[in-house]
Amino acid sequence: MTRGLVIASCLSILVACTSETPPYQRTIYTFGTLASISIYDVPRETAIEAADDIELALARLNRDWYAWGDGELGELNRTLATTTSARVSNDLGTLIREALRLSDASEGLFNPTVGSLVELWGFHEAGDDTGARPSATAIEARQQLISIALDGQGETMEITASASGAVIDLGGIAKGAALSLCRDLLAKHSVKRALVDLGGDLIALTPNDAEPFDIGVRDPRGEGAVAVIRAGAGEAVVTSGDYERFFNEDSERYHHIIDPATGYPSEAAASVTVISRDPVRADAAATAMMVGGVAQFEALAAALDIELATLMTVDGTIIHTDGMAERIDWLGDRRSTP
Ligand code: AMP
Ligand code: MG
Repeated sequence: MTRGLVIASCLSILVACTSETPPYQRTIYTFGTLASISIYDVPRETAIEAADDIELALARLNRDWYAWGDGELGELNRTLATTTSARVSNDLGTLIREALRLSDASEGLFNPTVGSLVELWGFHEAGDDTGARPSATAIEARQQLISIALDGQGETMEITASASGAVIDLGGIAKGAALSLCRDLLAKHSVKRALVDLGGDLIALTPNDAEPFDIGVRDPRGEGAVAVIRAGAGEAVVTSGDYERFFNEDSERYHHIIDPATGYPSEAAASVTVISRDPVRADAAATAMMVGGVAQFEALAAALDIELATLMTVDGTIIHTDGMAERIDWLGDRRSTP
């Protein structure tokens, strides 16, 4: 059996894998990033059909769930710009409901209504990291808009905001939700071994008794990997980092994950990686842990039912949950703090 190391320089994660035959691979641009689909051990036609389905679904989700686009969420936000209530479809409503549940569980550290602040800081457009630090007054004004409620079921779901101008941003869980859908589509095509990497957030499918994938965790301040994580059997590996979108001003780094309590980018962590079979929960947890930092790491893991997570701070401190010790090998002289 060959063991190959696939290093996709454009992606934030290095992936090593084992397989007798090379996978069918496709690279696409979606969710503002390069994504790769690798499908193993099925006839090429099956892999192509599965990849086609995934590509289509990702394009649709990217449009529907982008807060500032011309899809459903963008439309909803344009309505909320001038009113305080709006109808929402079952699909989007269900995801918003889940986001609000995860927001409650994380005591608001993950908060899908942080969109107006994300926009104020200039982190709403892919590839545009030329923001500037807003005024304290503007930040305070936007903080008043961090509150929405969702009522009803199915056809009658309705969003109510505390004031017009609220912006719902599902960016903190959209990739997780997309990975969940990718897993369903792979199962539909009876694919048992595959990896879908949405630029650092990925789903690893392996048959239960097969070897897991080795996944590199990116150095938040460099190009290489700082650790290798083993994941498989449908697990998602989701990373949030302060290097993904940021600008520097007066030697300070301002990045795209906002602490809803202050209205400023969080400073409590440089990156967080979470493994879970629930990709949406993993995604929300990684974002929340970026805000909560070392101080709230364990409490958030418990509140969000996350067994496998690791966090690196800007000054190089590394912590992880007990379970993660068996999954992670640190490279070079990196070590977790006892
Ligand atoms: P992620 O990479 O999953 O951590 O998601 C980061 C994205 O989530 C940002 O680009 C924002 O669109 C959005 N976001 C920023 N801060 C928060 C927050 N505190 N809670 C929820 N979403 C956030
Ligand atoms: Mg997230």
